[in-house]
Amino acid sequence: MRDATLAAIAFALAEHARTGFETDPERLGHLLGVRFIPGTEARASNGPPSIVTLPKDAYAPRQRFTTHHELGHILVQRSGLEDDIRAEVSEEDSEAHLELVVNFIAALLVMPQPLVRAIHDEHGDTPQSILALAQAARVSLPAAMHRWVSHDLGACRAAFLTSGSYISHIATCNAWLPFWRYDRVPELETCLPDVRMATAPNRLSLRVGVTQGEPYYYS
Ligand SMILES: [Zn+2]
Repeated sequence: MRDATLAAIAFALAEHARTGFETDPERLGHLLGVRFIPGTEARASNGPPSIVTLPKDAYAPRQRFTTHHELGHILVQRSGLEDDIRAEVSEEDSEAHLELVVNFIAALLVMPQPLVRAIHDEHGDTPQSILALAQAARVSLPAAMHRWVSHDLGACRAAFLTSGSYISHIATCNAWLPFWRYDRVPELETCLPDVRMATAPNRLSLRVGVTQGEPYYYS
């Protein structure tokens, strides 16, 4: 990852640690000194005063992540690194890049390291960890998968969801998988000897797989 991005993530983590890793969006906003006001679109301004505007009619579970996302914007603005993050890529990509960084920070706010570590201590590198994380943080399985594989950026991890014999979602960190999203892979165990699978509760055909994959380090 790039320097300004890494510095902004480190800043956000330190600020989150000062709140005791609060995950409830309203309480976190309060602890960070951010006021929420209803508006027509989601927006964040560090001010002062720090204000997050949220649409009143947003679907509730989605709003939870939207709130964390806007708090992520506030933290990036407070880090003073917003322009440096934008400058890490070409101008036409700068907005999308900033949104990716803010989404990464939002995932850390929703699924903080102490929570992920506690789940790792209990379940290890297994699909049960991803199921437990999704349940504890009340996020989707893909969101939990992405957070799970990247919780230690120095390690190789890969996770995926299958629906029937198709791959419906993939998340990797320093690892390569011998298939792509939407591929049909009837014999997973043959192409991934170390794979561990679990069935998602109440979703009969959806399975979660965890593997180390083939190490693949980006230079
Ligand atoms: Zn945004």
